[in-house]
Amino acid sequence: MYLVNRSIKLKAPVIATTIEQVQSEVANWRRSENKIAFVPTMGNLHEGHLALVKAAFDVADRVVVSIFVNPTQFGENEDFSTYPRTFDEDMAKLAILGVDMIFSPEVEVLYPESTAAMSSVTVPALSDILEGQFRPGFFTGVATVVNKLFNIVNPDVAFFGEKDYQQLLVIKKMVSELLMPVEIRSVATIREDDGLAMSSRNGYLQKDERQCANNLYRVLQELVASVQEGAAYEVSEKIAVKQLQQAGFVVDYVNIRRQQDLMPATAEDNHLVVLAAVRLKETRLIDNILFQLSNDNMTAA
Ligand code: AMP
Repeated sequence: MYLVNRSIKLKAPVIATTIEQVQSEVANWRRSENKIAFVPTMGNLHEGHLALVKAAFDVADRVVVSIFVNPTQFGENEDFSTYPRTFDEDMAKLAILGVDMIFSPEVEVLYPESTAAMSSVTVPALSDILEGQFRPGFFTGVATVVNKLFNIVNPDVAFFGEKDYQQLLVIKKMVSELLMPVEIRSVATIREDDGLAMSSRNGYLQKDERQCANNLYRVLQELVASVQEGAAYEVSEKIAVKQLQQAGFVVDYVNIRRQQDLMPATAEDNHLVVLAAVRLKETRLIDNILFQLSNDNMTAA
């Protein structure tokens, strides 16, 4: 019965590749007073992306998903050219969920001029720490493309994953400071059974690397437990780095920060996040855990 109903409701998503196509469809929906949700992605969709889409359907009448591998957020030595592009599979997954439109533009549509001297959006301070230190220009690339996509889709609400927690905060700050008329919502990280956060880049991992990769979440969980029991932040970070190195990772950073702005946590902060980036040969993985301290354990900093 469920299947019959679902298939009656199912309509293949509109596949838009131009700004005009998106805007004319969105204008129709607006005339019908539909609430529009937007989920930006780079494709190669997994259950993490699909969780955002499902959350979008909970609050909106129409859901637009963009699939665009954004060149301006990749560094020169990064994986822009090899990033997995799996449009047909992605489309099938989105069609099953009943997505209304997939926006999948060519690079020239979003960047009609050279990217060398173009206008861009930089969210200061937050963009320069943690991921920003290891990937200069990354968050300007992300903020700029998300701003362009918002200008095209004009959504009421947009969804981002906590998996990329710093990115989520960068987008929230951009929207708040530039008075963008869109609500930002977040969705918790979706993980594989062994705890590894789902990511398109997990597909790069060789078999032995994949076996090692689950140590990242395990070590972060242990760090959280020890901090919640009163261990000092810096000591806990150092222990985690050592454990990750012993497991075979090259560690870019493991840092405990406060959730609101990723500044170092003081004794007054009890909403914390541990963020980490590690490498296994060519593959770079990031993860984080949001956690709280009870009042008894707030002097650990
Ligand atoms: P990407 O395609 O990697 O740019 O990701 C598109 C969106 O999906 C971003 O908002 C990510 O934070 C989110 N996302 C990616 N992986 C996960 C995951 N494992 N759980 C939840 N959200 C995710």
